[in-house]
This record gives sequence, structure tokens and C-alpha cells, in this order.
Amino acid sequence: MNKILQHDWAHQDMVLETVVHIANQFLQALPAHPAAVTPFPTSLGHLPETGMGAEAALAHFQAKYARGLSGSVGPRYFGFVTGGVTPAALAGDWLTAVYDQNPTASHDSIAPQVEQEALHLMRQLFGLPDLFVGTFVSGATMSNFVGLAQARQWVAQHYGLDPAQDGLYGLPPIPVLAATPHASSYKALAMLGMGKRALYPITALPGREAMDVAALARKLTEVDGPAIVIASGGTVNTVDFDDLEAIARLKETFKFWLHLDAAFGGFAACSPRFAHLMRGAEWADSITIDGHKWLNVPYDSAMTFTRHPQLQVAVFQNAAAYLGAVGENPAPVHWTPQNSRRFRALPAWMTLLAYGRDGYRDIVERNCDQAAWLGEQITHSPHFRLLAPVCMNVVCFTLTGEPTLANVDEFLVRLQDDGRVFLTPTVYQGVPGIRAAIANWQTTSDDMDIVWQALAETARHWRKQHTDKHNSV
Ligand SMILES: *Cc1c(COP(=O)(O)O)cnc(C)c1O
Repeated sequence: MNKILQHDWAHQDMVLETVVHIANQFLQALPAHPAAVTPFPTSLGHLPETGMGAEAALAHFQAKYARGLSGSVGPRYFGFVTGGVTPAALAGDWLTAVYDQNPTASHDSIAPQVEQEALHLMRQLFGLPDLFVGTFVSGATMSNFVGLAQARQWVAQHYGLDPAQDGLYGLPPIPVLAATPHASSYKALAMLGMGKRALYPITALPGREAMDVAALARKLTEVDGPAIVIASGGTVNTVDFDDLEAIARLKETFKFWLHLDAAFGGFAACSPRFAHLMRGAEWADSITIDGHKWLNVPYDSAMTFTRHPQLQVAVFQNAAAYLGAVGENPAPVHWTPQNSRRFRALPAWMTLLAYGRDGYRDIVERNCDQAAWLGEQITHSPHFRLLAPVCMNVVCFTLTGEPTLANVDEFLVRLQDDGRVFLTPTVYQGVPGIRAAIANWQTTSDDMDIVWQALAETARHWRKQHTDKHNSV
């Protein structure tokens, strides 16, 4: 054995202690850590002929890169929809690497059963009936891909075709209808050979991102053959929900597959205050829910649920002599785009058992209260205005005066440099704006005070400079 590898093996306990030390330092400093860090230029190092060993590699990483890490796991990173990592999820994720199980076969480890239990806990959290079969994937994009792949298979069956076996040859274009789909649904359509242009936009209700269901019904009357409808369970700008019950009722009249993208909005089901938004979800054919957002488990983790497990297996089965027959009860390898994959169910299982329904209700309600509070401050501020009412955990707002793309960008660069909070830009109904998406268990009302101070101060400074600059030209 290589000498250095042998040395690390003998001292693995010390390496782990160093890691625990680094982790504790990072986590304790997190509240003061910049929310986001502008990356600095680096050089690409040489592959060493003789390695340096784990301790030295750790030290090298710390010296070369650690100061460039964002505080995205911390309490004031409100960009995109970024969750944190609960203590129990972290424990589970560390052990995921320690155990390094590959939950694809069902006869050599208990890991797939832990996965099934985690998914069962999740069904209970979201109020989904047991007929929904769940699978873990790497993120909501892959979950949308898995759902839409089944939808494609289902539509093709109507024409007596089987794209999993024969490809898309002979299949007419499949109408895909949605009002405010996430960008990843377009990506999934591109991967599935259906094309991004297959997506036909259904008008939204006035002043909303939610689908005008009457417009959907009209479009369904016009299309030939079965269609796919993608419903939103929480849009990224305003967390608007399509009326899932009303859409599901159209199934009595029209033939369509209902895919529900509830990547983070699905957590509405955790709170009696918001659960009505997910009413009707149980009528979906396939459902996307993210883990690394509001569940607060590390990247990369999401769930996909289906009512049509046989269609999922039809697409993703991986028959090979060495894996055994697919059989009555297909092993996990036959369900997902990946064959080998990490035991990502463990952090989810840990955090669900550790904090339970109450824990998740608290996180969801607290984050939503925080968003509502921020919305209130914005309403009363001369610097900002809301672009939409705050429904759940996302605040969509913009600068007063001239909210051009350049102005929003300039403001956000300054805010990022300030470091107290990280927000990302958007365009809402044609107006350049800013999003604050709160999905971290760690965020407190003290953090919200800090965020608001950072926003107000940065706006004052930016406006002053901006005015000076414009007056001088
Ligand atoms: C984040 C998100 C996605 C994509 O999720 P990834 O986990 O980044 O792949 C899809 N849909 C919605 C509604 C989202 O919020």
C-alpha cells in the first residue's frame, strides 16, 4: 500500500477530529460569516507526484479556498431558494459518506428500506396517500425529469407507442401546458426529446402567477390527443399556487397527465395556515418535492412521487444479467436516472425523526412570518416597493424610482459586498426586481433586523452615490 495512504489509514481518527474542529469553527462563525463571497482569482495547481496526505490536504484547502466559501448554509442567505442543514441532517449526511451504501440493489443492505421509510415519513408530512410511490433523486430538476418522462410514456401508450423501447419516432408532438413553470421543466423537456417549445403557456389570473383554469380548459378543448399539464405548487417569485383541485377536476372531461412541481411550496402542507394551498395535490400523477430547500438537508436531495410506478420502471429499468431479473418488485436501480447513487435518504430520515411534524411546521411558519415582516418594512420604506403581496416565504420587491436591470444589479452588488445578506435578482411581470427567499431553519428575528438594516443602509448609500454620479454627468 502507498505509504501516505497507509499513514492516513492508521490516523483516520485524527483526520476526523480535524474535520470536526474545522466544522465547529465554521458553524460557530457562521452568523458573522459573509452571506455570499465574490470569488477571487485562483491558480490551477499541479497534481502532486507524491501526495501530501489528508491532514495537509485539509490545511491546503483551508489556506487556499476557505475564505471564499459563502455563508449559504447560514441564516441570511436569501438567494434562489436555499435551505440550510439541520443538526440531525448533518449527522445523517456525514454518516452517509461513512457508510457509503449504494441503495440500488435490494438484497445486500438495509439502506433501500431506510429510503422507503424516509419516503413514507415524507408522504405523511405532505398528506399524500400511500398509493404514491416515492424515490430519491438529486434535485427537483431531476424530479421534474422523472415525472415528465413518465408523462411522455403515458401519452405515448395512448398512440400504442413505447418511447422507452422505440424512441420518439412516430409520436406526434405532445402538448405541455403550464402557466408559470420553473425553468427546470423546460430543461427536462429538452432532455426528454420533447423540446422546450412543446410548452404552451396558459395565461395566469390577473395580477397572479397562478393558472387561469378556464383558459386551461379552453386549450384542452383545442388540443388533439392527451396532454401534459404542469401545475405549480409554489412559484419562485411569489410562491403562487395553481388551483390544484380545479385543475384535477378537469380530468373528468379531458385526458391529461398532471405533474405537480411543489419543489419547496409543497411544505405548505406542514402548516394549517398554508395547507389549503396543497389541496388537490393527491390528484396529481407525479409530484416533485425538493429536499435541499425547505427540508434543510444538504445538497443534493429531492423526492419524486408517482401514482404510476409501472411507468417509472418502464422508463428507468436497467435490466442486466448481473443485476438480476426486474421481477415483481423492481429493485431501486430500476426507478431512477442514476444507477449507483448515494444514500441520501439518511439525512432526510434523521431530520424528519429528529424534529417531526412540529419541527417542520415551526420552520415553515417562522420563515413565512419573517417574510411577512420584511414585506411590512418594505411597504413603509421610501427605498423599496413590493412587486407582489407576500404569500409565504418569498418577498418579491424592487427599488423605488427607476428599477432598471442595471440599477437592481448595481444595488445587489453593493449588498453582496456588504455581506450581511444575499439576495438574487428577478424580473416580475416585466419589472426588474429582487427576491428574498427565506428557507433556513436557523434564521431568527435578530437576523431579520440585521437584514433590514443592511437593505436600508445599502439603499441610502447607493442612492446617494447614484444621484451624485448622475448629477455630475
Ligand atoms: C428549485 C426549484 C426547482 C429546481 O430544483 P433543483 O433542486 O435546483 O434541481 C424546480 N422547481 C421549483 C419550483 C423550484 O423551486
